[in-house]
Amino acid sequence: MARLVIAGGGFAGFWAAAAAVRLRRDAPSLASLEILLISRDDQLVIRPRLYEPDPSRMVVPLVPRLEAIGVQFERGEINSIDVAGAKVQLAASAVSYDRLVLATGSQLARPAGTLGACGFDIDTLAGAAAFDRHLHELAARPESEGRWTVVIAGGGFTGIELATALPGRLLEIAGAGKVRVIVVDPASCIGASLGDGPQPAIRDALVAAGIEVRTGVTIASADLAGLVLSTGERIGCQTLVWTTGMRASPLAAKISARIDALGRIEVTPELRVSGLDHVFAAGDVAHATADGGHAILQSCQHAQVTGRFAGYNATADLAALPLQAYRQPLYTTCLDLGAAGAVLTKGWDRTVEATGEHAKAIKRRINTQLIYPPAEAEAILAAAAPVVMDEELFHRRILQKRA
Ligand SMILES: Cc1cc2nc3c(=O)[nH]c(=O)nc-3n(C[C@H](O)[C@H](O)[C@H](O)COP(=O)(O)OP(=O)(O)OC[C@H]3O[C@@H](n4cnc5c(N)ncnc54)[C@H](O)[C@@H]3O)c2cc1C
Repeated sequence: MARLVIAGGGFAGFWAAAAAVRLRRDAPSLASLEILLISRDDQLVIRPRLYEPDPSRMVVPLVPRLEAIGVQFERGEINSIDVAGAKVQLAASAVSYDRLVLATGSQLARPAGTLGACGFDIDTLAGAAAFDRHLHELAARPESEGRWTVVIAGGGFTGIELATALPGRLLEIAGAGKVRVIVVDPASCIGASLGDGPQPAIRDALVAAGIEVRTGVTIASADLAGLVLSTGERIGCQTLVWTTGMRASPLAAKISARIDALGRIEVTPELRVSGLDHVFAAGDVAHATADGGHAILQSCQHAQVTGRFAGYNATADLAALPLQAYRQPLYTTCLDLGAAGAVLTKGWDRTVEATGEHAKAIKRRINTQLIYPPAEAEAILAAAAPVVMDEELFHRRILQKRA
């Protein structure tokens, strides 16, 4: 009996498993295929929501869904992958595979050393929960310098969503009073990586929320009472949060030397790891190319779609069925801007499609519905086909109107 192993139970891994089951259901020669998903947690963490209050809610139990579609689950930490012997190595056992989908995602790129050891993150469930607990614990502290000052290191997508959410979150805990949120970024403007289109909406939202920015600078040192910027400015603050980008799971670099600057592994158009016949990769760990030659981003939307293609192709490969080249013609972003609403952009040039309350309603729907996997087997399998997000689907699913 052949075995497909999927490493990682995030968006990419879950949808890889579902796509594999769907093909197994449809191809008689695959009837005896064993599909096993291995992950360190038995929950799918909804990472895009970890900037919100009460982050411990942001999980979906994996086991009932996997059981419903006939996928085995093993909870464990994968320490290494023996590609020559076709085995994944867990703490106390090794699991062999006929095909592997690597979907072990990414982790925050924290600065090294004592600086990175200081402060919080919202990258993992545990990190976001610790940050949330800390905000509530501030209420019990005596009045002191920087008690209600939060510095966010990194003004990219995650930093902006957290910054614009924080004044409301802090005021709810602190009651009326002075809260201060400061975003620090080495680039010349906040949200530089998000392109020109959304810049006015981002700027207006930061100003309206009273968020301070320090651009063109880095954090030189930090301790529990405050930090010092590269300009020499000292900021009294009892809360520092790192949102300094993501790096691919270190397993990628352990199995291939063909790694990009984010630590992602090079894959073919079918998402097979270059040079490794039996290994496919998807999501934040894969350097895949979307339509138009754009390298995918470490994003939920790319993880969900590459996951489906990788799961389908790894399974099709076992049955000598034709593989499908990964396609994702449309790229969209919806950036939460707190009390100012949100900004929705379409395309790699990030043309603004909606702002304010209209975009916020779309963001709410994405965050509370569209990125959640269904619970019922039939619905999971119906959604597991490697379909591509195109103009028509964008209008129907995101804008909820006809193209
Ligand atoms: C705060 C925040 C906000 C975000 N907002 C957005 C957004 O608005 N839109 C968007 O598109 N994207 C957003 N993202 C990015 C998005 O969450 C990721 O791109 C997405 O989660 C990637 O999915 P993945 O399945 O590739 O990896 P992950 O979600 O990282 O899942 C990887 C899985 O593998 C497991 N794993 C990892 N290593 C091992 C190991 N060695 N052994 C066993 N298991 C392992 C992990 O526990 C996890 O279950 C955000 C991310 C963060 C942190």
